[in-house]
Amino acid sequence: MMTPRHTARLAVQARQPRIFEAPQQPDGHRSPVSSYFGRHVLDISKLKERLPRENFESLISTLRHGKGLKREVADAIASVARDWATSLGATHFTHWFQPMTGLTAEKHDGFIDLNAQMTGELRVLEKFSGSQLSQGEPDASSFPSGGVRSTFEARGYTAWDPTSPLFLVEGPNGRTLCIPSVFISYHGDALDHKTPLLRSLEALNREAVAFLKVLGDVDVHSVAATLGCEQEYFLVDRDYFALRPDLVLCERTLLGAASPRGQQFEDHYFGSIPGRVLSFIEEWEFELQRLGVPVKTRHNEVAPMQFEMAPIFEDVNMANDHNVLAMDIARKVALRHHLVFLAHEKPYARINGSGKHCNWSMGTDRGENLLEPGRTPHQNLRFLAILATCLKAVHDHSIALRYSIANANNDLRLGANEAPPAILSVFVGDLMSDIIDKIVSGKPGKDPEHFVLDMGVARLPNLARDNTDRNRTSPFAFTGNKFEYRAVGSSANCAAPMAVLNAAMADSLAQMSNRLKAKIQAGGARDEAVLELLREVFTETAPIRFEGNNYSEEWKIEAGRRGLPNIATTPAVIEAMRNPKENGFLSTLGIFSEVELNSRLNVDLERYIKQVTLEAETLAEMLSTQVVPAGEKQLALSTAALQAFAVQGNFGKAPSTVGAQAGGGVAALERRVTAVSEALGAVLIGVDRINKHLDDLGNSHDEARHARHLAEEVRPLVEEVRESADRLEKLVDDDLWPLPKYREMLFTK
Ligand code: ADP
Ligand code: MG
Repeated sequence: MMTPRHTARLAVQARQPRIFEAPQQPDGHRSPVSSYFGRHVLDISKLKERLPRENFESLISTLRHGKGLKREVADAIASVARDWATSLGATHFTHWFQPMTGLTAEKHDGFIDLNAQMTGELRVLEKFSGSQLSQGEPDASSFPSGGVRSTFEARGYTAWDPTSPLFLVEGPNGRTLCIPSVFISYHGDALDHKTPLLRSLEALNREAVAFLKVLGDVDVHSVAATLGCEQEYFLVDRDYFALRPDLVLCERTLLGAASPRGQQFEDHYFGSIPGRVLSFIEEWEFELQRLGVPVKTRHNEVAPMQFEMAPIFEDVNMANDHNVLAMDIARKVALRHHLVFLAHEKPYARINGSGKHCNWSMGTDRGENLLEPGRTPHQNLRFLAILATCLKAVHDHSIALRYSIANANNDLRLGANEAPPAILSVFVGDLMSDIIDKIVSGKPGKDPEHFVLDMGVARLPNLARDNTDRNRTSPFAFTGNKFEYRAVGSSANCAAPMAVLNAAMADSLAQMSNRLKAKIQAGGARDEAVLELLREVFTETAPIRFEGNNYSEEWKIEAGRRGLPNIATTPAVIEAMRNPKENGFLSTLGIFSEVELNSRLNVDLERYIKQVTLEAETLAEMLSTQVVPAGEKQLALSTAALQAFAVQGNFGKAPSTVGAQAGGGVAALERRVTAVSEALGAVLIGVDRINKHLDDLGNSHDEARHARHLAEEVRPLVEEVRESADRLEKLVDDDLWPLPKYREMLFTK
């Protein structure tokens, strides 16, 4: 019998890589990436060529000092942008922004305008003004606001963020000019991810420059955080995807028996990339490179059909726009290859999930990486001071950091023995641990310069190159010249974790500045004062440092002993985050007003409720309409077979070998009938229990309790019922099972 699943399987097996038209050199070879990199971005160099000089200089000064764009400058840029975009086939423009839906939003407007003369002659012109460039006015009432905005003031504003250049995106028949924008309410409250990120970068810049001044680096004028995110993802064939309501609605499988072959052979990681997948990646990279996204690395990840993309790092705002764009484009390009791009943290149970490792550091306008040890004792002292500040940031704000990566998807991944646990700790490596221990216990009898050298600081410059000293279980790991924030989930907009991290850092930098100033004012020599401060801060932050296996049970116990929070679910983190003790620094630094923070917590809670409810509803429906019917048919089949067999067994009463085998077979069949009916029964009862919870919750008005109930009761129940369904899958006739199986979806060639 050919079921839709079998038809899909044959189609998938027959599929070939799709060849796209990459730009070619005259001899037919592909053109080097540098020949088309950034072609679809209106970057600074293109603006410089096209803008009148005084306008260009005014733009540069705006970028440098963060002032508003002058009207005539905006008009000039708009006119350049219109000519450039229409010459490349754009018909529309849109403010491109990142609302709290987790996706990007666009509202396209045509460039055309009517120029109806009194003569009655109708003419159409391409127009684009400075005010259209600078500001848009989408109706905000259909975006999540968490109560910031009531419908009668539904207006929201989008405003161009000039630090992120205009770019063109592909449509099937033309291009659209995209204007990266912030999204704010009528009263100026942030309704998006970008606004708080930009604010956090300002705060970090301010506090870092100030701290460097106290340290004696008076010639640093600005400090920018840098980000390189490694994006993990899964791919699944569209035919399989279409047959799985759970993937279609929730982007993850809610049931599915483990494939006998999983990731146990450890043969996928860094293995050769399958042809179809590679052709997708090539086209995806091509589109990104034209948009100036510096994609660099591609490889297979640990789980089957799991892959990773990493770009070269950039400043955080740009890197985040690029990551958001990369995910958006991946979805579209994958479809052309008959694949679906799954950014979900945990599309499949029992194999690895996906993260988005955020590699983060800070760079000065002099081109120095502040987390990179230098050559001189002063540079190294500064490096140690910044490192200590990072430890302090995580130590003081671990709940806020945990909150910044919390969502229903990531809850499934964190602590699942494949991703860091929900406990935030920092790994610094053997060498740094050694140095820190010496600073803490050392007696600086000699002058600080010698003391620093004695501690082994001379070995520091090799740190970045020494890749052997890695701990892949740590949520926040120092990797030689940057931190790798590994707990971030693959579907996240990293603006959220980056804004909190920058803010935590800014707060710690401010405290470090004050403490250092006080020591210097009390008469200490600067370097000695720094060393004394380092000793204090390394001591205070000791509980947050952990070099061992973060996946182990012992660490959970040890972390509890150290008093580190271990908050497993999103509703619990949101509740913890409502405490002003945890969120105060965000309003003090101006990252969120109290109203904005509240709205964000509400949006997150609402989203959690909707998502977990959707999962439970989807599972209940799939069980009722797909799993149970298959189980019922199987039960009827097995029962009939047992009867037929038993009849036969009665005939074969003679103690022949055939009869004995038949008798054994009867017993085995009886066990099978029992197994099928037990699993089926468990599923049936499970569906009732899930539906009962959903009915009860339907009337709930207390959102916090509602969410907690979902996290603590419904999610575990969903897992429990799933186990029964998965047992049933292993018993039911393959022809009767309607859902593509793990072994099919994960082992597509
Ligand atoms: P891994 O060994 O962790 O897989 P990769 O080389 O794949 O490392 O990715 C490391 C990421 O870190 C890249 O995106 C890289 O550009 C980024 N990175 C390197 N230096 C910095 C820095 N100073 N700041 C931010 N990100 C950085
Ligand atoms: Mg990495």
